[in-house]
Amino acid sequence: MLYRLTLTEILQMVKERKTNAKEVFFSLKKRIEEVEKYVNAYITVFDEEPEEKGLLNGIPIAIKDNICMKDKRTTCASRILENFIPPYDATVVERLKKSGASFIGKTNMDEFAMGSSCETSHFGPTKNPWNTNYIPGGSSGGSAAAVASGEAICALGSDTGGSIRQPAALCGVVGMKPTYGRVSRYGLVAFASSLDQIGPITRTVEDTALLLNIICGKDERDSTSADIPVPDFRKALNRDIRDVKIGVYEKGLEDCSKAVKENFKKAEDVFAGLGAELIPVDLPHLEYAVADYYIIAPAEASSNLARYDGVRYGFQQWRDDLMEMYRETRSSGFGNEVKRRILLGTYVLSSGYYDAYYLKAQKVRTLIKEDFDKAFDRVKAIILPTSPAEAFRLGERINDPLKMYLSDIFTIPANLAGLPAISVPMGLSEDCLPVGLQIVGRAFCEDEIISIAHAFERETCFYKKIPVFKEQI
Ligand code: GLN
Repeated sequence: MLYRLTLTEILQMVKERKTNAKEVFFSLKKRIEEVEKYVNAYITVFDEEPEEKGLLNGIPIAIKDNICMKDKRTTCASRILENFIPPYDATVVERLKKSGASFIGKTNMDEFAMGSSCETSHFGPTKNPWNTNYIPGGSSGGSAAAVASGEAICALGSDTGGSIRQPAALCGVVGMKPTYGRVSRYGLVAFASSLDQIGPITRTVEDTALLLNIICGKDERDSTSADIPVPDFRKALNRDIRDVKIGVYEKGLEDCSKAVKENFKKAEDVFAGLGAELIPVDLPHLEYAVADYYIIAPAEASSNLARYDGVRYGFQQWRDDLMEMYRETRSSGFGNEVKRRILLGTYVLSSGYYDAYYLKAQKVRTLIKEDFDKAFDRVKAIILPTSPAEAFRLGERINDPLKMYLSDIFTIPANLAGLPAISVPMGLSEDCLPVGLQIVGRAFCEDEIISIAHAFERETCFYKKIPVFKEQI
């Protein structure tokens, strides 16, 4: 059962010579063999046996398939990159390698990270390990489902509007989006460059702190990465949160599901019991966040995705006429959701509409950031649900993009404002589907939200709960 342990627990055992990277690798491989057919968490599974070295002692990590790994297929779950093999490592992969990590595979995702359910993948949907009739969340649904199902110990994901936190919440694991600029985006296939961040998906807050220590920091190859010292995030663990002022965004709860409302109330009680001071905060422009995001993100995506023209990367539909070749390659290489975003983004950036949509959206983005700034004058962090409801059934929202987009109503604001945010499991619904608590912090104060999340985790111990596969019984 090595596959069920946390990274920290495994590293302790390795230190005591009770196990090693190879045993962990084979335990994961066996688990993948048993349950991958129900979950579909991976696009590619690796076979190379790990070498024991460095801080991580060769322990294998799963990587979302929009993060480049040298000589390993990186598809973004798209037909257009189906056979793309990067000639270089993303900075995060390079840093993990330097710390002695090995890799177990590349995880499934929504195509180009556009989606909230992992259903837009060219490689078929990932299923929620807690109930395989349900979606795992997205777009890093493969990473979250792999960690929840025991097919990975920990993983990396990417978060543009909630893609680490929302699937972490729906799969009952921990997911963190660091401050914009904290982690290098070099080698992350760009979706919306002003919003994208890489971050960890793990079983515990402690494991998140450990991975953050490795992946954070300035990188010359990403001009938006911040030259700000990176603290040892493990020092933020086991802190007393008595008298810490935590803001509560109560308005958010109004339209949430019963499970989210009830578990959120319980979470508030946990914090009160720990002696934290809960203070209601108002974030008046948050209601515009989804609309705002769906102008800014598609605008940036339409520009970023222009490079897939059938000439420079993998997939090509050959035609004698160049324009026809572009058209055929792009229309058969991209899926519907990606095409919808390219159309929307091209429209809002087109001359005559730029000011009315794009420029206005940037102004609203500033107002949202100012709401947070004002709230942070009074509190250290803000709690709100990660997602308004538990996982929904596969297929339920795939033809209703607006409903799908609303899954991210509570996660998008942190991306627009560039703030760090973590999702920790806060309980289960009556149908045994997990829900998550989100803690948003001040820029570059990841340590503060780690302290709060860890205090909560110590009280609730959710990571000891394990999903049971009905199919296996
Ligand atoms: N679900 C959101 C979208 O579809 C966010 C995705 C993400 O964070 N990558 O754009």
